[in-house]
Amino acid sequence: MKPFVYTGQPARVVFGAGSLAQLVPEIERLGARRALVLSTPEQRASAQDVASRLGDRCAGIFDRAVMHVPIEIAREARAEAKRLDADCAVAIGGGSTTGLGKAIALESDLPILAIPTTYAGSEMTPIYGITEGVAKKTGRDARVLPRTVLYDPTLTLSLPTRLSATSGMNAIAHAAEGLYAQDANPIMALIAEEGIRALALGLPQVVAHPSDLDARGDCLYGAWLCGTVLGSVGMALHHKLCHTLGGTWNLPHAETHTIVLPHAIAYNEVAAPDAMTRIARALNARSAALGLYELAQKLNAPLALKDIGLPESAIDEAARLATTNPYYNPRPVTFEPIRELLRRAWAGLVPAA
Ligand code: NAD
Repeated sequence: MKPFVYTGQPARVVFGAGSLAQLVPEIERLGARRALVLSTPEQRASAQDVASRLGDRCAGIFDRAVMHVPIEIAREARAEAKRLDADCAVAIGGGSTTGLGKAIALESDLPILAIPTTYAGSEMTPIYGITEGVAKKTGRDARVLPRTVLYDPTLTLSLPTRLSATSGMNAIAHAAEGLYAQDANPIMALIAEEGIRALALGLPQVVAHPSDLDARGDCLYGAWLCGTVLGSVGMALHHKLCHTLGGTWNLPHAETHTIVLPHAIAYNEVAAPDAMTRIARALNARSAALGLYELAQKLNAPLALKDIGLPESAIDEAARLATTNPYYNPRPVTFEPIRELLRRAWAGLVPAA
């Protein structure tokens, strides 16, 4: 076995249908008395439910979380936390809301209790991102890792099927790339494979029967594991491509991951055989890349970048940007094959090994 370094992340997880009922004891456990509740405008009702459960432990609600944490919103939320003398933030929602909590914690050390309602996995990572103008600055800081995470699958019953599918594929992307990360380790490999297996089992059932609570539980469990991988080891080509496409052409986050993933995995198929064996096994498929493409098909998820707003004329520029300062990747990242990868992903073709 190769030598490795493993660092555990110190989050506490309370998992299960109905675990939202544990909110007050968990807040008390953090020693907090005045929680600022965060949400998107669309999830205001969930934030209000959280606030009423908290009773006089709720300092207020800030319901203006949006995708990619614009600096102006982060500043307003930080000022609101200060004004209300909050001693903790409760983030109910997806990666955008958790991201806002992280932006507050980054400057105040306020503990975050996260209640995830998508499969993005941000609640398990010390990674933050703040957007200033068109540039998104990301970094790692232990202060932003939520202290407690309440995973309650009942809160995901309202997640629309398309977002469930793409958010789940986004989670799988974290685990898949974690398997061939530069700092990969056997513990993360176990977690990654189990995370992919749970999502591959749960997602088709969720898409067919959105109110199946057991399947929702499988997906949320898988999302937790995949998020843990993202928080622990580095990412590679797939994440670089998605950050490039999302950042430059403002493509929707989870959809972009869903479309690019089978192609990025195909690109690395020969260079990372052990990772591919694990991914294929977790998907119960013949090949990792084809298995991911077929899973996206089964979920009726988008398969082509042209269908989510990328113009064909952007392919060359995207390939140039993605091959400039590339992340670590098991196979060298060079212009021509990356352009071909993007061309296939743009058209929605089957991934080429
Ligand atoms: P999101 O948080 O932007 O949510 C998308 C929409 O779905 C929002 O309107 C939200 O209110 C709504 N929604 C969420 N849960 C719902 C539910 N159960 N029912 C009904 N509606 C619901 O989407 P996301 O994909 O979870 O997060 C994407 C963002 O998270 C991106 O900015 C991405 O960069 C970031 N992210 C960060 C990390 C990290 O480690 N820092 C990891 C993954 C994603």
